[in-house]
Amino acid sequence: MRQHRRFAFDLKRLILLLALVSTVITLLTSYLAIFQVEKKLLIESSLRASQSYAARLSLTADLFFNAAQKQVAYSADLLGDEFDNRDAITEEADRLQVQSKRFSSVLVVDKTGVVRAASRNSAEMVGLKLVSGANTAALSTQNPVLSSPFRTAQGNHIMVLSSPIRNARGGYLGYLATEIDLSKSSIVDTLINARNYRKDAYIYVIDREGDVLYRDASGWIESVPQGHVNKALLGDREQGFLLMDNLQGEASLAGFAAMEVAGWTVLVLHPARADVVLLYNVMMQVLLYTLPIVILVFICIWLLTRYISMPLRQLASRADTMDSEDVSQEIEQINAWYYESSKLKTVMLQGIRLLHQRIEKLSTEAHTDPMTGLLNRRGFYELVDKQLTEVSRIAVITLDIDHFKKINDTYGHDVGDVVITQLARLILDSSREGDLLCRMGGEEFLLLLPGASVTQAIQLAERLRRQVESHHFEGAGNVTISLGVTHFYPGRDNIDGALKAADKALYQAKNEGRNRVINL
Ligand code: GH3
Ligand code: MG
Ligand code: MG
Repeated sequence: MRQHRRFAFDLKRLILLLALVSTVITLLTSYLAIFQVEKKLLIESSLRASQSYAARLSLTADLFFNAAQKQVAYSADLLGDEFDNRDAITEEADRLQVQSKRFSSVLVVDKTGVVRAASRNSAEMVGLKLVSGANTAALSTQNPVLSSPFRTAQGNHIMVLSSPIRNARGGYLGYLATEIDLSKSSIVDTLINARNYRKDAYIYVIDREGDVLYRDASGWIESVPQGHVNKALLGDREQGFLLMDNLQGEASLAGFAAMEVAGWTVLVLHPARADVVLLYNVMMQVLLYTLPIVILVFICIWLLTRYISMPLRQLASRADTMDSEDVSQEIEQINAWYYESSKLKTVMLQGIRLLHQRIEKLSTEAHTDPMTGLLNRRGFYELVDKQLTEVSRIAVITLDIDHFKKINDTYGHDVGDVVITQLARLILDSSREGDLLCRMGGEEFLLLLPGASVTQAIQLAERLRRQVESHHFEGAGNVTISLGVTHFYPGRDNIDGALKAADKALYQAKNEGRNRVINL
């Protein structure tokens, strides 16, 4: 296993991680922004819808009360002229009740609060003294009054709409009271049954103080407070929207609109939760729509990361095998398509070239004798192993300077060196191309003659011996050598055996008096 695999993070993973993290962050930020914008839009449109629905309800109710009030005021005007004529005012009260259909009963009340006349369906009220709050309000203000809903002694849940009765000179005579039965009246239908708005909405009608008069679940509330809305929240606005809790305490979106005649306000609320669900649905859709693009982006990132990291990855994997023969060729083939990788590639190739040169130099040095430039013993063996296997026959000459110690002793070591060097030169000059000369140690040489016969080898050895004998060595004069000759067949014989035989021949030459060639 190569070294770089030990690291959990490589360039590809790091780039991938970086790209993915930044993409995910970007995506999340975008989603968050979309979420916020959508939330704002949704809530605002919800609020506006609630507000306009409240405005519609309020307008409907306003139209109803306005028309009713006009009707009552008209009748009250008529009654002012005939207040003492009981038949006439009874007639008018009855006409109003029958014709308008808005009112469950109509009463003509004098300024002491006693019912002076009544529509026929309420004839039993004549002569009774009224004590309701609506009566008190009508008498004390001498103005038109629209009461809050309340329950009568007879058990009817009503509202009272009244208008003052005055004589021709403007003197206050009493008031005309009309009762609106909340269980029958169309105002109730308008507010309760006109439920064409969202199902989770609550509709409240609140009075000037914020007390809830009507809740769509429980209808008109007779005794307040059963619920209360902080009117300060609405400000002084006629219409608007706001975020507030409904009477169940749920966070709600509320639209509101004030009713002109009654001075009440219609509130339309729905729980904010519904919009949150809607928002999540929208967000899910956004996610779904963007998913293919996101996947595509991720695939592109992955491919790009591979493409970017590939050259460095390949270069790094070759770094482990810089000493191998064909690593340069492998590196050449790497597509280093951007600056850093191409620079690294160039430097690696240079480095590998230098490394190989250095290895070659070291190897040459290890195999060469520095003094003569010939192969040394190690170089000799390596060469024999590599090159000489195909040759059928090899002749071997081993040679050694006679009494070399004496030369050293007499002329000094340096002269000895010169003799060795000159001898090497002499042998080289006499040998053919393809012959192999090496210095096996000291002043001992070995000459391999591939393909040469023994006779040829003996002739060469003899020629060498004579050449050396007659050569004048600088500083040392005449020198002789002894030579041993043998031969062997590389495919068949061991080289060591051949060397031994050659040494033996050399030994014999020494023994027989030196300066001679012996063949064994
Ligand atoms: P023989 O005739 O039996 O060969 O006698 P010899 O004196 O030559 O004996 P031998 O071959 O054993 O002696 C080798 C001597 O060569 C011993 C050593 O001092 C000397 N010698 C070995 N290497 C070198 C070298 O590189 N330079 C010099 N100057 N002398 C060397
Ligand atoms: Mg010697
Ligand atoms: Mg020797």
